[in-house]
Amino acid sequence: MTSPLRLRLDSAALAYNWRTLAAMSAQAACGAAVKADGYGLGAIEVVKRLAAEGCRDFFVATWAEAALLAPLGVPVSVLHGVRDEDMELALSGIARPVLNTPAQVTRWKAAGGGACDVMVDTGMNRLGLAVADVDNGLLEGLAIETLMSHLACADEDVAMNDRQLATFTGLFGRTNAKRMSLANSAGIGLGRHYAFDLTRPGLALYGGVPSPELGAIRQVVTPEAQILQRRTVRADQTIGYNATFTAPADTEVAILNIGYADGYFRGFSNTGAASFEGKSLPVLGRVSMDLVAVNVDAAPQLGEGDWLALDNALPEAARRSGMSQYELLTSLGARFDRVWQD
Ligand SMILES: *Cc1c(COP(=O)(O)O)cnc(C)c1O
Repeated sequence: MTSPLRLRLDSAALAYNWRTLAAMSAQAACGAAVKADGYGLGAIEVVKRLAAEGCRDFFVATWAEAALLAPLGVPVSVLHGVRDEDMELALSGIARPVLNTPAQVTRWKAAGGGACDVMVDTGMNRLGLAVADVDNGLLEGLAIETLMSHLACADEDVAMNDRQLATFTGLFGRTNAKRMSLANSAGIGLGRHYAFDLTRPGLALYGGVPSPELGAIRQVVTPEAQILQRRTVRADQTIGYNATFTAPADTEVAILNIGYADGYFRGFSNTGAASFEGKSLPVLGRVSMDLVAVNVDAAPQLGEGDWLALDNALPEAARRSGMSQYELLTSLGARFDRVWQD
C-alpha cells in the first residue's frame, strides 16, 4: 500500500549536516537530538544514518523514545530524566537519564542507578538543577557521564549567551562529570568555546538554519504530494474554504493530496508554493485539512496522479507560514510515506 503523499528524505544531506556541525564543534564530539521521532523524520532511520557517520551520543525526551531506539544499541540519553514510572526501564540500562531535579537525583541514587547525565539550569529556567545544588553535595556519589546545560537564546546575538557560558564554565571541575555539554544547533554557531566536550544539535541536522553562522546547512526534507484533480478555474471564480482567492483570469489548478493535518500548515494559504522543473507553482486559497490547490498555468503537462514537491527550505517556509522551523519539522504527519534517498 502506498500513500498519495511522501517525504523525500536526503540521506546525503543529513550526513553532510552532521559532519558540518561536527567540524564546527572542533574539539568536541558531536551528538544528535532525535527526540520527537527524529524531529518528524523518523528516529530509527535518522539514528542508523548518523551512527554510520560516527555519531555516538543521541538524545531523546522520554523513555518510550529510548525504548524505540534500544534495538539499535547506540548510547542514548533521556533528557527528561526519570520518574518513578520510568525506573524499571531505566534500570534495564537501555539509556542514561539526564537528571534534572533533586527528586530525580535522590531516586537514581537510592536505586543504585549507575551512569547518568545531569542538567544544570544556567538561566533558562526550564529544566535542571540549580547551580547551588552542585555545591551543596547533592551530586556526590553519582557517576556523571555528562554535565549539561541549555542555552535560551543561542539563535540571537544577546548578552544572555555569554552569561550562561560564564555560569556553565564556572562548573568546570566542581563535579566528577567526565564531559561537559552546552550547545544545541544554534549554540554551535556561537563558536568553539561553547562546544566544550560534546554538542547536541537537533534542528540543523534536519535542515533548519537557526542563525547565519549555520548557512552551510542543507535541506533534508521535501514533502511531495500527488495531484488528485486538475481543473480550470474561470475568471472571477474562487478557490477553497472562505473563497480567499479569486481567479483574475482563467487559471489552471491542481489539487494536491496534502493539507494541514499533514503539517502543511494553514499559514501557507496563498503564500506557499510547489515547484516543478524550476517553475514556482503558488498555493491558491486556503490550505484545507487534507488538500491544497496550486497554480499550474506554468506546467500544462501535469495531470491527475503526477507528483509535485512543495517548497520546504525551512527558513523561507517558516517566514511564509508563520510557524517555527521546529514546528514545520515536528508536525510532519503520519500519512506520509517516508522515503530515504541514499
Ligand atoms: C532539543 C534539545 C537540543 C537540540 O536543540 P536544537 O535547537 O534542535 O539544536 C539540545 N539540547 C537539549 C537539552 C534539548 O532539549
